[in-house]
Amino acid sequence: MREIVVAGNWKMNKDLNESVSLVSEIKNQLTENDDVKVIVCPPYTSLETVSALLKDTAIGLGAQNMCAEDSGAFTGAISASMLKSVGCQYVILGHSERRTIFGETDDLINSKIKKSIENSLIPIFCIGETLEERESGDMQNVIERQVKEGLRGISADQLSQMIVAYEPVWAIGTGKTATPEQAQEVHAFIRGLLAEMYSSEFAENVVIQYGGSVKPDNAKELLGQPDIDGALVGGACLKADSFAGIINPV
Ligand code: PEP
Repeated sequence: MREIVVAGNWKMNKDLNESVSLVSEIKNQLTENDDVKVIVCPPYTSLETVSALLKDTAIGLGAQNMCAEDSGAFTGAISASMLKSVGCQYVILGHSERRTIFGETDDLINSKIKKSIENSLIPIFCIGETLEERESGDMQNVIERQVKEGLRGISADQLSQMIVAYEPVWAIGTGKTATPEQAQEVHAFIRGLLAEMYSSEFAENVVIQYGGSVKPDNAKELLGQPDIDGALVGGACLKADSFAGIINPV
């Protein structure tokens, strides 16, 4: 049985005081639910403080990005070991905003995935097509390229330490959600690719989250699909009640 994993990507929101308030409210609002693994991904500046607030809870802590290098002259960059040192267990890699706004390539994302696993950080590896790619019929090629390039050189054992997040770019922050059927179709396609690349046994165990305007009122149906194993949530994770509303009905 695959675990259900719901992660909140705070993006560039919440200063330190606001982060303390949000995480405290999340802790208060979450009811005991052993069936769902919850992860919060605040900005770098709040990680250490949020980590302390999460001590003795089952809520995981993730960063939103990291550098593929260990250390050195990379002004403004943050390494995997730095993330570990402030209590992170997860890191989001390959988010579409990193790909499109910051020009991150499949190759760079592949290096980051390798570096995160080397440092015992669980990567949440994001993939997804743009509206143009979907409408031109190129969606499967794009997903296949992102999966194959992103996972180049990753062993089955390493894959078992990863989370994959399918996030159609056209559904991120737009209020447009893929229908449960559209999302399920792509999740099944991704699982099929992983089965070809590794084995069906491994592919069956990989957690594949859906991301793209997930809210309390659509979460249940999306997460009810056979190949959707949780959600990566942006906008709706910035308020404790809507984040909890996605987690609790699961
Ligand atoms: C995201 O950025 O990963 C995301 C899914 O955002 P939103 O939920 O706001 O669409």
